[in-house]
Amino acid sequence: MAHRTHWINGKPWTGEAATRGDIYNPATGRVSGTVDYATKTEVDAAVAAADAALPGWRETSLARRSAVMFAFRELVASHRDELAARITAEHGKVASDAAGEVARGLEVVDFACGIPHLLKGGYSENVSTGVDAYSIRQPVGVAAGITPFNFPVMVPMWMFPIALACGNTFVLKPSEKDPSASLLLAELLAEAGLPDGAFNVVHGAKEAVDALLSHPDVRAVSFVGSTPIARYIYETATAHGKRVQALGGAKNHMVVLPDADLDLAADAAVNAGFGSAGERCMAISALVAVDPIGDELVAKIRQRMASLTVGPGDQESSEMGPLVTRQHRDKVAGYLDSGVAEGATLAVDGRSHPITGGAGDGFWLGPTLLDHVTPRMNCYRDEIFGPVLSVLRAGSYAEAIGIINANPYGNGTAIFTNDGGAARRFTHEVEVGMIGVNVPIPVPMAYYSFGGWKSSLFGDTHVYGTDGVHFYTRAKAVTSRWLDPSHGGVNLGFPVNH
Ligand code: NAD
Repeated sequence: MAHRTHWINGKPWTGEAATRGDIYNPATGRVSGTVDYATKTEVDAAVAAADAALPGWRETSLARRSAVMFAFRELVASHRDELAARITAEHGKVASDAAGEVARGLEVVDFACGIPHLLKGGYSENVSTGVDAYSIRQPVGVAAGITPFNFPVMVPMWMFPIALACGNTFVLKPSEKDPSASLLLAELLAEAGLPDGAFNVVHGAKEAVDALLSHPDVRAVSFVGSTPIARYIYETATAHGKRVQALGGAKNHMVVLPDADLDLAADAAVNAGFGSAGERCMAISALVAVDPIGDELVAKIRQRMASLTVGPGDQESSEMGPLVTRQHRDKVAGYLDSGVAEGATLAVDGRSHPITGGAGDGFWLGPTLLDHVTPRMNCYRDEIFGPVLSVLRAGSYAEAIGIINANPYGNGTAIFTNDGGAARRFTHEVEVGMIGVNVPIPVPMAYYSFGGWKSSLFGDTHVYGTDGVHFYTRAKAVTSRWLDPSHGGVNLGFPVNH
């Protein structure tokens, strides 16, 4: 039985926790370990360690900070399977998906290795006679990251590699549901040469988060999670004077126009709807079929769903694992009955999908298809965050885009079509932050930035990429004059341009 605790000042915390939580293996439904929950005292200790490490780390040369990132990159790559195994054991996702998550996180480390180039400012000579101007970016200080259960490696790695490379120190509060992978990341950062205290991990729930949000020495807060908590984090942390980026939930639509390749669209809908059991913020949860292809598309999707292998994530044949907790599984399953009660058709019932090699007490729910869903139904309005794909029928392109733009979320969306003009019009008109054209999960590469619109993001900057560099730094503009040795006399006026 694993026991996980905080990582403070370069080592595991040795105190006695007032509260602990259980860690579950979702494939068996059994408790696999416990995790200490931080109170204000442990959070204060982690922030104090980060604050003490800040002067040394921010003065460390760009060459050295970049060298630590390169070393960390190699260590994560060589521990990929171990990280993936920790993810699968506590989240439930299949091993290949967990390894993919580590790979996508590594792309941000690759990006952070280039920090000397990313922090280059501008320089203008002779902005006025004998006067030069230049810009620099400096770290904000101690930054905090609060992350969700569904990407226990990738989402923290959207944040801390860039924050650290920019010269900040960091306190991570990962999800209490799958806390183990973050501790391996902390060990690897230490092995890569990061000084003690520059990266800390505190576990726990609301009490730990609230202590971070109100701590006077925390200057910036990055959050990823559900929309109600994202809104709370944004409001609370900004009220305490912090810089905040808070990414929330999603309802991602995939529009299929009548001219699309329906086999490609059906493959994409199944991959993006049921990969990671639908527990992805960029999962497709609403498919909008534009007349007249609805019935044909649904038939192709049903056919593919029937052959999906659902089973434990550490079993090689499994394509989809269990859900993260029993409560979440039951909540998701509840939408099947409520959808039918509101008039939807249960085209595929995931409750009767075979589970291959799984223990009976695991948090299982097979892939589910609700057809003839309308925007007023709860199964459409709520973010279900499970393996439930809702199909809406639209009479035209205009109706389809109207549905998406009326939705309060704006994280990701995709259009499937062979008409370049229609795709271009869609990308121009749709009120969503990340758009795929014949690509169902358009997660931007590390050198772009990730972020949604509307209720999917509170704050001004997206995560990682150049937005990440801007979030974790403050700009200065310097105007300087060095008098020419030949200069003489007093000049009380404005600089003069000759
Ligand atoms: P969550 O909002 O329940 O939890 C996220 C974090 O907030 C966790 O660390 C949790 O401990 C903490 N937290 C929970 N309740 C809190 C409270 N009352 N006060 C303070 N802190 C609290 O989210 P989750 O269930 O872990 O993750 C799934 C959600 O995350 C989904 O809504 C999903 O769409 C979203 N998500 C969004 C993105 C994105 O990029 N927009 C990415 C991944 C996940």
